[in-house]
Amino acid sequence: MPLLERLAIGIDIGGTRVKAGVVDLDGNVVDRTGRDTPTTSPTEVEDTIADVVRELRGRHTVAGVGIGAAGFVDLTRSTVLFSPHLAWRHEPLRDAVYRRIGLSVVVENDANAAAWAEFRFGAAQREDDLVCITLGTGIGGAIMLDGLLFRGRHGMAGEFGHMQVVPGGHACECGNVGCWEQYASGNALVREALALVEAGSPLVEPLLARVGGDPAAITGLLVSQAARAGDPASVALLRQVGDWLGVGMAGLAAAFDNGVFVVGGGVSDAGELLLGPAREAFRRSLTGRGFRSEARIVRAHLGNDAGMVGAADLARSRRSRSRSSRRQSRTQRRAWVGDGASVSMLGHRRVE
Ligand SMILES: [Zn+2]
Repeated sequence: MPLLERLAIGIDIGGTRVKAGVVDLDGNVVDRTGRDTPTTSPTEVEDTIADVVRELRGRHTVAGVGIGAAGFVDLTRSTVLFSPHLAWRHEPLRDAVYRRIGLSVVVENDANAAAWAEFRFGAAQREDDLVCITLGTGIGGAIMLDGLLFRGRHGMAGEFGHMQVVPGGHACECGNVGCWEQYASGNALVREALALVEAGSPLVEPLLARVGGDPAAITGLLVSQAARAGDPASVALLRQVGDWLGVGMAGLAAAFDNGVFVVGGGVSDAGELLLGPAREAFRRSLTGRGFRSEARIVRAHLGNDAGMVGAADLARSRRSRSRSSRRQSRTQRRAWVGDGASVSMLGHRRVE
């Protein structure tokens, strides 16, 4: 393979940092850089992306650039329809970056990019049907079926953190109540820890001692760390969240019959303290239990680099087409066949 196709740049745009890396064919990050994320304007973020690309291209020859961004990305993987952390509303990100760098660019939802990385290089290798669940403050999700990312008709599939699991339950920032991420996430750990504080429970004293007695400083990550250090209240909180995690996964298994669930994000640092209860609840809740093969539930392997590595590989990979773009490709092929001039002009063009 020519050198040009061996390396690609992956960029992960977070609310606070733009992380960029040069990624090789085996998913190794061979060089990396980063900048603070400018929050003021889309143009400044695009300038920052161009800046990190220029820096890395100064040291490497690369085939293309993949960008992973939190938010809804349209089916052509060119436009960010909405991003919760950035000022992007119908932002034509792909073309804006292409104009600045003159290299091929793909844009992908960050959870999809991370799922692709786990599929290619991480916890879900040799599994064509997988569901990725990222447990941070909320739940991020991605689905792969038959070895292809499933983006849905409008590019918004995988938002299963907002499936209702408790009618009349806790209010969610999405506007509904009882969403899964209100029960299985870092925010759920914090809310339940604060409920113990509020109730004056002595059980929560060791956890409070870790934050100097300030309940406002309790985070999901802190509860995970305390649980790993053996704090009984934190272990119980993780069991509760793991239980809800398993219940939700059983629902997803009923829908997708996937072979594996890959669980990542900060809360997954708790490892078996979270996944053990999740597996128990999953088995207890699974449709057809006892008469079917069960999906494996495993931790993500690639950690914080997953989005960057996946975005880079998507920029390079010919297998990166989603079901939706394959459908689009068929539609376009039909259109071209109906128009002889278009066939000769466009027939050789890849539809990614
Ligand atoms: Zn919700």
